[in-house]
Amino acid sequence: MIVKKTPAEIEKMRAAGAVHARTMQLIAGLIREGISTKELDDAAEKYIRSQGAIPTFKGYRGFPGSICASPNDMVVHGIPGPYRLERGDVLAVDIGVTLDGWVSDGACTFPVGPVSPVAEQLLAVTEASLFDAVEQARPGNRIGDISFAVQSRVEAAGFAVVRSLIGHGVGRELHEDPQVPNHGDPGRGPLLEPGVVIAIEPMVTTGHHEVVTASDGWAIHSQDGSLAAHFEFTVAVTQDGPLILNPWHEQGMEG
Ligand code: MG
Repeated sequence: MIVKKTPAEIEKMRAAGAVHARTMQLIAGLIREGISTKELDDAAEKYIRSQGAIPTFKGYRGFPGSICASPNDMVVHGIPGPYRLERGDVLAVDIGVTLDGWVSDGACTFPVGPVSPVAEQLLAVTEASLFDAVEQARPGNRIGDISFAVQSRVEAAGFAVVRSLIGHGVGRELHEDPQVPNHGDPGRGPLLEPGVVIAIEPMVTTGHHEVVTASDGWAIHSQDGSLAAHFEFTVAVTQDGPLILNPWHEQGMEG
């Protein structure tokens, strides 16, 4: 069942999203060769709590980190730890922020110093597929329009959409209905109406779409070892069109 949000509730989710966006910008400023993913995790948790918010992922089904930090062929759900970033890495950072009981979910993949041309293209295409998808999050469209937007952008570039991991509704819970796949047909699936709030999150590899879970039970890697990227926004469908609730890409969110 899709739980639609009132305009007042969307404003509360936007407040959580503002903390989220500032946290992502803080992490963006810290990413460099030699820093460990645990140090990024500590910085994110400290900032989130300083804002009166809670890191949503910490303790979620036993997840030990405040953020997910997934380098290179790891797609998602990396546990922050002693791994130190190296020049040429790409690092996917997924953050959840809960403020006053409302959740913001979002991710960005960062280059560490200069990266290979294919890595650069992977990040650009995956981020572009997210923005294409956001454009579809308007009343009258269906979830399939979002899925198709991601898939067409990604496959036109010769990359693959991970199929077994998908976006989702978000609100008081981190994972709500509807499911938001990153591949599918336009005009299909649940109807988008004002008040529907979804996490749109393309996960893309430079190789094949199959993934495997690591022995820690959390980290998910591309099966063929190819590079992966993950970008995500929490987006509200409104009368006026899509509204990104955690705009980590916008400058001037400091404060
Ligand atoms: Mg998500």
